[in-house]
Amino acid sequence: MSALASYASRSDRTRGRRYPEPPPQNRSEFQRDRDRIVHAGAFRRLEYKTQVFINHEGDLFRTRLTHSLEVAQIARVLARSLGLNEDLTEAIALAHDLGHTPFGHAGQDELNACMREFAPEAGGFEHNLQSLRVVDELEERYAAFNGLNLCFETREGILKHCSLAHAKLLGDVGERFIARTQPSLEAQLANLADEIAYNNHDIDDGLRSGLLTVEQLQSVPIFARHYAEVLQAWPGIVQRRAVAETIRRMINTLITDVTHTTRAILARVAPADADAARQCGPLVAFSGGVRQEADALKKFLFENLYRHFKVMRMTNKARRIVRELFSAFIHEPRLLPPDYRRDEDLTQARAIADYIAGMTDRYAIREHQRLFEMGDHL
Ligand code: MG
Repeated sequence: MSALASYASRSDRTRGRRYPEPPPQNRSEFQRDRDRIVHAGAFRRLEYKTQVFINHEGDLFRTRLTHSLEVAQIARVLARSLGLNEDLTEAIALAHDLGHTPFGHAGQDELNACMREFAPEAGGFEHNLQSLRVVDELEERYAAFNGLNLCFETREGILKHCSLAHAKLLGDVGERFIARTQPSLEAQLANLADEIAYNNHDIDDGLRSGLLTVEQLQSVPIFARHYAEVLQAWPGIVQRRAVAETIRRMINTLITDVTHTTRAILARVAPADADAARQCGPLVAFSGGVRQEADALKKFLFENLYRHFKVMRMTNKARRIVRELFSAFIHEPRLLPPDYRRDEDLTQARAIADYIAGMTDRYAIREHQRLFEMGDHL
């Protein structure tokens, strides 16, 4: 790793793990976190979880796994060029979506609605909180403890948002939501890398699926600007290749802008160390102009892709599957596999949420068939 800036997180100064462990022998603490995440069952399940398109809709669309890899790639470039801790930011990026339900945001929203309706005392369902729950509790891979026993800094980065009520129950990683301070710079950076990744790959997937057209995208300044550059440099280029070249240039523009803007902010604020950086406002940012362009792109995708009638039909089916699974299990817990049965109502509701959240898209579809259709669905 190249030289770390004074405000970078340092693995030899970690606030530590929930259960003390001897230091790793051949790698840093944050490398060990990253490696534990890569070996987790929840990480492998991301391969079959929806980003925007349901997993079986096409082999080339992003899944949550390839999305997470793209986020990690962008985050690592940013970290290295800013002198921040590349291993930590990579660990956060790879873990950031571990708690996502099947069927993307639709699945999460429905599971949250079900928890609030059927188990109001249990406190709903938030995918960020679930990502933390996966690494703190749900993975069962180590003899000595539940979860992956990650460092504070990695867990802090995974918990991107959280309600105040939840924050109060979470101990160390909840504190910043109460004190209104920031997470590490590496966490801030992983967050922005997430946005850069999905804005760009959703254009690519939207065009590939035919739900978006290049003509429509001409109304989005950041796309129109780069697309015009490509056509000018390569007249007669095939559209598919022009789109790929445009997206590559957009990602480069966004990364360059974050790097320059953040470097200038850090030079001005000059936090003495990683903890001092947490006390400042957000320090990783786009410039004003690019922030506006990124927002316009987000708005375009929301209106034209995420609310496209074909996506809405898929979303609607997905919500129904999640709701019917939840309702069947909460009314008759004996339908659950024995591992997920509990004696008490609140913990039973939470175990049902854990079971459903852990499902891949196709597992949820099959489980729904097993519960609701006659036939060979054992
Ligand atoms: Mg993400």
